[in-house]
Amino acid sequence: MRNLKISNGLPVAAIVSLIAVVVLAGTFTGLSSSTSYEAGDNEGGQSGALFAAETGDSTMSDKIEKTDAEWKEILTPEQYHVLREKGTERAFTGVFDDLFEDGVYRCAACKAELFTSNTKYNSGCGWPAFFDAAADGAIETREDTSFGMSRTEIVCAKCGGHLGHVFTDGPAPTGLRYCVNSASLDFDSTGDESSTETNK
Ligand code: FE
Repeated sequence: MRNLKISNGLPVAAIVSLIAVVVLAGTFTGLSSSTSYEAGDNEGGQSGALFAAETGDSTMSDKIEKTDAEWKEILTPEQYHVLREKGTERAFTGVFDDLFEDGVYRCAACKAELFTSNTKYNSGCGWPAFFDAAADGAIETREDTSFGMSRTEIVCAKCGGHLGHVFTDGPAPTGLRYCVNSASLDFDSTGDESSTETNK
């Protein structure tokens, strides 16, 4: 190596530097292109969001994000008020309050399975009540201190739609009462609870 001679007289150091630059540039280019889908934060972020919007229900773990205008197109005014503006329907007025048929309750906005009739019970509170979610991860909770109260809001994990609140005065085995607005739900009486794939 020591007697490496460059025929054109360029210093060895210069050649090595040149090679290093070329290799580095190549590595960087290769890296950025091969990992862009993983980063998903910059350019990948937009295409990723677009992909999720286009594929919609491809997997339950996909989050759904829409603009207010888009939600208004697919929701009734009451559904929009409850789901997107955290509204609350008047007690004993919801269509599912007194419904006790077998079936699956889905998010009225994104159709994610949220509850099943297996956990629905008559709490007497005036809103549909469930003692458990359909699946782990189907529902997310958030602290809600609005109206001078300290409550735990429940939202659809998939689309973020407001569902109602969860309280700790429910029946066994969970001791929880998921108090849900009918307007935020769709009921699927043909759903096969035992085989319906639910998650997150
Ligand atoms: Fe949803």
